[in-house]
Amino acid sequence: MKICLFGASGFIGSNLALRLSESGAHEVQLCDVEDAKLRLRFENAPFAYEKVDISKDTDRVDELVRNADLVFDLAAFVHPAMFMSKPLDVVKLNFFDCLNVIQSCVRHNKRLIHFSTSEVYGKTGGSDASFKENETDLILGPIENQRWIYSCAKQLLDRMIFAYGVEQGLNYTLVRPFNFVGPLMDKFAKNWDRSDNPRVFANFMSSLVYDRPLQLVDGGQSRRCFTYIDDAISALEAIVAHPNEMNRQIVNVGNPRNEATIADFAQLMADTYVKHFDPSARPVIKSVASSDFYGKGYEDCDRRMPDISKLTSIGWQPQFGLEETVMKSMQYFVQNKTRLVELLGE
Ligand code: NAD
Ligand code: UDP
Repeated sequence: MKICLFGASGFIGSNLALRLSESGAHEVQLCDVEDAKLRLRFENAPFAYEKVDISKDTDRVDELVRNADLVFDLAAFVHPAMFMSKPLDVVKLNFFDCLNVIQSCVRHNKRLIHFSTSEVYGKTGGSDASFKENETDLILGPIENQRWIYSCAKQLLDRMIFAYGVEQGLNYTLVRPFNFVGPLMDKFAKNWDRSDNPRVFANFMSSLVYDRPLQLVDGGQSRRCFTYIDDAISALEAIVAHPNEMNRQIVNVGNPRNEATIADFAQLMADTYVKHFDPSARPVIKSVASSDFYGKGYEDCDRRMPDISKLTSIGWQPQFGLEETVMKSMQYFVQNKTRLVELLGE
């Protein structure tokens, strides 16, 4: 099968690209605005990369879609810090530019696997129930809480993809990732920068390595289910392998057994770092107000628990527990620090 990935050199894209290529079953075309993570992931193995900016190269995007059997759309701005500092850029790329990719899939009748987000569910509204793709209400805060602009843009695109399925027969799967972590997630950030700090694992990892305090936003009482990237990629492979069962479905990808508060996650990372990587380290964990960390307009998702019955029905189960997830992810970052900084900056 000919598979085309847009946003192929991101965290998920680079890990997925390697696994799809290694399977030997597919011809994989990798498109992104840059290829640093692909070079890191593939090391010396060859890969088919083309520099394609989905915002500008719309004719080329259309050609690539026409030539593919399956299209993955992973291109997006994904860091909560950016939802606060560059909200219009977030909507432009994550909604309008991705819409172009989707319309090419409709035009050429190509199967699409599009990356939605678990952020679409928003807040729990006080319920303890896990998020179900076809049942759970999507609860966002007021407009002035700018954090929700990403969720809202992604939600509208989900609704349009659904409508393209109903009205024009688009074949698609919408993937909702729940906090994937692992090799090549974001980057080391030597200095903390409010407008551009990475997601929580990469931020804590950077704090440990550069001996800065790990910062718990508003005390770190929000909860997340951390999913090891290898489990996530296996889920994506299962989705590719079950086109009929997964067609016109929204699918949560996450590990409900790996739930932790952010405070507990920070403690686990600090303990793991001292025990396995730097016995002389003395990590400091402190609380910080969200208004200082992200600026005005931040509001958190209090809890995100996936119902994964759609994936278990096709035989997928996550394999990596929380401790192993943290250990393996940290190991990659520590062992590859020099090369990561060289290729991704800090
Ligand atoms: P990432 O930031 O690592 O990757 C995004 C990629 O898109 C980058 O390589 C970037 O260069 C590329 N890109 C940006 N602008 C582009 C453009 N104009 N043209 C082409 N490519 C462009 O993010 P990720 O974690 O790999 O996420 C991939 C998808 O999964 C996104 O849609 C994201 O919203 C979704 N998602 C991820 C998670 C997670 O846990 N990682 C959680 C929820 C949703
Ligand atoms: N967070 C934190 N310290 C950090 C980065 C993030 O306490 O240095 C918190 C953030 O407020 C949220 C959770 O960790 O509650 C996960 O944040 P992330 O940026 O990974 O993305 P999210 O899951 O919110 O999309």
